[in-house]
Amino acid sequence: MGRHWYIPDMSFQVFGIPVSRGVAIGRAVLIASSRVDVAHYFVDPDGLDLEVERLRHARDVVVQELEQLQHDLPADAPTELDALLDVHLMLLRDEALTGATKQWIFERHYNAEWALSAQLEVLARQFDEMEDEYLRERKTDLEQVVERVLRVLGRDPTSPLATHNGVTPRDFAGEDPLLLVAADIAPADMIQFKRSVFQGFVTDIGGKTSHTAIVARSMDIPAVVGAREASRLIRQDDWVIVDGDAGTVIVNPSPIILEEYRFRQRQSELERARLSRLRHTPAVTLDGQKVELLANIELPADALNAVAAGAVGVGLFRSEFLFMNRDGDLPDEEEQFEAYRAAVEAMNGLPVTIRTVDVGADKPLDRLTAAELRHEHVLNPALGLRAIRWCLAEPSMFRKQLRAIYRASAFGKVRLLIPMVAQLSEARQIEDILRKVREQLDEAGRPYGKVEIGAMIEGPAAALILSGLLRSFDFVSIVTNDLILYTLAIDRAAEAVAHLYDPWHPAVLQLIAQTIAQTNAAGKGVGVCGEMAGDPAFTDLLLAIGLRNFSMHPSQIAAIKQRILRADTRFLSAKLNLVLESEDPQKTALQSFSRSALRAVSGH
Ligand code: PEP
Ligand code: MG
Repeated sequence: MGRHWYIPDMSFQVFGIPVSRGVAIGRAVLIASSRVDVAHYFVDPDGLDLEVERLRHARDVVVQELEQLQHDLPADAPTELDALLDVHLMLLRDEALTGATKQWIFERHYNAEWALSAQLEVLARQFDEMEDEYLRERKTDLEQVVERVLRVLGRDPTSPLATHNGVTPRDFAGEDPLLLVAADIAPADMIQFKRSVFQGFVTDIGGKTSHTAIVARSMDIPAVVGAREASRLIRQDDWVIVDGDAGTVIVNPSPIILEEYRFRQRQSELERARLSRLRHTPAVTLDGQKVELLANIELPADALNAVAAGAVGVGLFRSEFLFMNRDGDLPDEEEQFEAYRAAVEAMNGLPVTIRTVDVGADKPLDRLTAAELRHEHVLNPALGLRAIRWCLAEPSMFRKQLRAIYRASAFGKVRLLIPMVAQLSEARQIEDILRKVREQLDEAGRPYGKVEIGAMIEGPAAALILSGLLRSFDFVSIVTNDLILYTLAIDRAAEAVAHLYDPWHPAVLQLIAQTIAQTNAAGKGVGVCGEMAGDPAFTDLLLAIGLRNFSMHPSQIAAIKQRILRADTRFLSAKLNLVLESEDPQKTALQSFSRSALRAVSGH
């Protein structure tokens, strides 16, 4: 651990929404949202000179471009244009930019793109603090020239990213853990961080079930979102504690506070190690009810974590992450087939439930699409062309995905899950498409196994037409994150209304309870794969309702299993109506279920 300097006047706290448990302590790396997709990796000590050379070369290319532009200015061009180019050239040649960027490379081993964006953050703040309005506005010029240099670096064929096939070298991380601080991180960018160097993160916006938070939980790193001003108040390189249990971010902590949190960090590591011993214990309640604990994954490689955590299958493979940030160049059938097959083979005979592409709303395909969806075409993207609606509007893309999924079923047990079904006519369209896909595969002589088809219960409409849906589908999965959104009309990512996004809302609980009871009565499979399934606060309630299939991030499986091993469903179900009929179900559940647990343990 590097040296920690404590400056009393500079110590402060920021509060946000805790979304991924644990404590992380390290140095802040500030990244502007627009630059989150800039590559972040550490450079091998032998490669530092080369990295500086990459930076110098990119800078020179931009200098030449600007000089050429200046040279080609028509005689009648406004003089301001010439002066502006002068300013840009001056900024590019200024040691405050290039000299300091080199320092980030030599001292921290940051790659050139990261070093340059880190230095931009430092300088941008200095500009923000300037009294003189003219000088303050030069920040935009600085951003523009840095953007140009970053673009040249991005095209650089000698970039380690280009030559290392995108693998992030993490062996040269230096001594200090790094924590990411950003205004916002798009879900697609979060996926890049799965392989990255950060050990915790803080964002200004977001809610508990925003996809940014979900990916943080899947990475099992402490995270706080919705911390409003965090990215403005925290400076590059500040020492920061991220408390993912309480939602607190402590900046420049005093030595006493730091020691206290280091202690908590060690405690939570011990707790994790203790829980991980339950890995191979079957999830069976005290009264002998068997419960299936499955994993939610975003990428095929996550399947290994699922197996390691003792999952009995994948309950949700969010296939849309294969489609994101590709500038519209969607994965073809072969690429998808390889990805699904990799997940299926990694699960080694255990079932893999693949959700068909669920883009739209807060999961845009790429940043451009996000901007288009939000600002130009659709005011309420969550109510727009998303998930199955988009798939049915793009039948050729959809058939490609379905063929790839069916082909993967020749290598293990595959289940197909359709997001956002809300109409019986959609169910019929899906049946037609699936029939066609199977015919195509038969004609091409491609083998495939038996694939069960499931519908996601994502909005009140689906829950209310369940009996109709159960005629067309083999199983259903309740996706509570969006079920809460659509039932309560609350955006998952909006911190301004985050306090109203309430999984304990009686309307939400009624819909979940009815769906589980009705599907169980119909003899079909029902699972929950939203964040409620992985939150120990809801385990007793869901068991009482009759749920026996939970899907969550691999890192949550052990904690949920512990709850299940201590539960007695006979006592819990006897209290269910009290909770469902209560005006304050959370309080009632806490009181009645904990009493039930005590009685179960003492045998009375
Ligand atoms: C959900 O909505 O509950 C869900 C599991 O899907 P996602 O979080 O990917 O929208
Ligand atoms: Mg959803």
